[in-house]
Parts: sequence; C-alpha cells; structure tokens
Amino acid sequence: MMDIMKRIYMDHSATTPVDPRVVDAMLPYFTEKFGNSSSLHSFGQEAAEALSMARGHVADSIGAREEEIIFTSGGTESDNLALQGVLSREPGKRQHIITSVLEHPAVLSTCDFLKSIGHDVTYVPVSSEGIVDVGDIERAIRDDTVIISIMHANNEIGTIQPIEEIAKIAKDNDVYLHTDAVQSVGKIPVDVDQLGVDMLSISSHKLHGPKGVGALYVREGTSLTPVIFGGGHESGLRPGTENIAGIVGFAKASSIAKERLGTDPARMGRLRDALIKKVFNTIDDVRLNGHATQRLPNNANLSFRHVEGESMLMLLDIAGIAVSTGSACSSRSQHASHVLDSIGLDPDYIHGSIRISLGRENTMDEVDYLAEALQETVAKLRQISSPVEC
Ligand SMILES: *Cc1c(COP(=O)(O)O)cnc(C)c1O
Repeated sequence: MMDIMKRIYMDHSATTPVDPRVVDAMLPYFTEKFGNSSSLHSFGQEAAEALSMARGHVADSIGAREEEIIFTSGGTESDNLALQGVLSREPGKRQHIITSVLEHPAVLSTCDFLKSIGHDVTYVPVSSEGIVDVGDIERAIRDDTVIISIMHANNEIGTIQPIEEIAKIAKDNDVYLHTDAVQSVGKIPVDVDQLGVDMLSISSHKLHGPKGVGALYVREGTSLTPVIFGGGHESGLRPGTENIAGIVGFAKASSIAKERLGTDPARMGRLRDALIKKVFNTIDDVRLNGHATQRLPNNANLSFRHVEGESMLMLLDIAGIAVSTGSACSSRSQHASHVLDSIGLDPDYIHGSIRISLGRENTMDEVDYLAEALQETVAKLRQISSPVEC
C-alpha cells in the first residue's frame, strides 16, 4: 500500500498542474515586465515582443503561422469566437451549422444560442464507439451550411474523430471546418494543415499552462466577426489588453508539450493499457467506453455495472485518488452524461462510469494503486447496494 497521505491526480482532462518552468517564464511579466503591448515606450515594446514570441511558439506547436493565432481567455471563448464569429457575418440571415451530439458544452451551448436567434443546427449522431460517421456529415450539408464544428478528441471518452476526412468534405462544399482540439493538443500530434481545418481551439490549462488563456487558430482567408468589441488587439478579433503573463506561460507550456510528444503519448498509452488490463482481470461486469484504439493515450472511461459513479469517486478520493465521473447522477436528476447517452450505453452501466485521465507525472505504481483501489471500491459498493438504477 502507498503512503496514505499521498494524493494521486488522475483527472488531467479537467485541468493540469502548471509546469514549474511555465511559472518561471511567467513571473517577470507580472512585475518588471508589466508593460501594455500597445504602449509605444520600451515597457510596451518589451510586452509586444513577448507577445510576438509567444504567438510564434503556439503557432509552431500546431504547424500554423504566427498571424493565424488569436489569443483568447481559453477553450470556451475560442469555440464561441469560431462559431459566433462565422454566423454573425451576415446579420439577419438564417444559416446552418453542422456539429455532433458529443461536443463539449462550449460548442453545444453556443449552438443552442445560435438556434435561439434563428439559425439551424444539425447534430450528427455517433456510433456506439463514439465516432461520427463522415457520410452523415456529408448528407447534412445544405446550401445554407456555413460551418461544421466537430471536436478532435472527446473530453469524456477520449475518442478521436476523423477530422482529415471531414475536412475534405468541408472543402469540397465550400464550408468552414472548426475543431475543438482542447483535449488533443499536447497529447497527440496536431497539425492544422494535416488536419485541414480552418479553425482550431486550444486551451492552456489542459496542457500544463495557466488557466484563463487559450487560442483560436484562424486559417488565413477565413472571414470572422468579433464576439466582443473594443480596440484593435488580436487583429481586431479579440480586443482587450492582452494577458501577457498568461500568454507567455501558455506558449512555454505549448513548447514543452510539443517537445514531449516523442515520449509522453507512448508512455501514457502503456500506463493506460496496463490499467485497463488490470481492471478487466480483477473486476467483473466492466466496460471500456469509447473506441478501443481511436482514442487519446491518456483516457480510460470505465463503466461498472450496478455501481454508482459518484460513490466510487468519493471512496477513491478518500483513498487519495482524484478521478471524475462520466455521469452526474444527483438525487434530483437521473440524467447521465450526454456523451455516454450518445453512445447508447446500457442503463445498468451508465451511472457507474468514471473517467481516468492520466498525466505526465503519473507512474506505474500509481496505476497499480488505482487498480487495487478500484477493485476494493467496486466490491464494497456492490456488496452494500442492491442493483437499482442510480
Ligand atoms: C476544457 C475544455 C474546454 C473549455 O476550455 P476552457 O479553457 O476551460 O474554457 C473546451 N473544450 C473541451 C473539449 C475541453 O475539454
């Protein structure tokens, strides 16, 4: 057994600790290098240079050019800017969006809003393994379709969507393609030209950078309207004095993540596979949600039959392990996660789902400890609860 005071973090899809090198890179920009990048004096120039360097590093991490990076307050804002920015180019004109049922709320809620102001949205379904059918997207395209938004990797079940194939269809039909790549950047190689996307969202805090900063990649020639209005910052697409310290930290985190792509994915994949193997060897009535291979290397979303996910989460937390539930089943609502719903997960399993998302600090010892804790937790909960839903 492990030191009981040790806490193990395995919820990296929710957020990640900031890398100490990132903190070091940020610190001067709070104190001596505090300038406003729009100021003409040397303080301003220092900030403007830092901003330009940072833009270059973030661009480089996804194979983009510096001018194509718009800094935002994070993944949510980037998703909003992509969708609302395209849809508001022609006010009063009803337009059509194609997205999927398993998108992050940052996309789904934006689509709900755009629908409420008169636009049309088609939500394509996903397979039982959580993958969209490219044919469904092609068939959904209409004359008034302006944008397709399909996430690169899902935050709950880790499935990776066939973005390259969707890009071909988007291009053939002269429709923009946006992808929310918040979960994939830093975990698997992401290159905007290889993917063929017009816009791509990134968030700093999912890749060991600070919270409250992110970017939208906007391919040259893409026509967008801002969502908020003010000065001319960020090519006029995102006005407001830039969060220089945050942006510098984000850029440092992006560079580190890119450097580590040669080793991290394989290492995390080994830990993840070992975990899944141990769980399947020691626990009955368990399922792995999502696709067996088309998934992020750090994600294992598991469902245990006749177990309540939140009770598991609490018992694991007591054991010092932080994971998250795939479904929020409160006393008030019986609603499971929209993602697990979308893959048609069996009701006996849906409420017993947990998401384990590994990070670069996790070790095989920690995976062993989690596997043991899961075995005990599931046994305990199955013993005390009669098999009722939720
Ligand atoms: C976390 C997340 C977001 C939101 O990013 P924030 O920077 O927290 O606003 C958007 N999309 C996905 C897939 C995410 O996992």
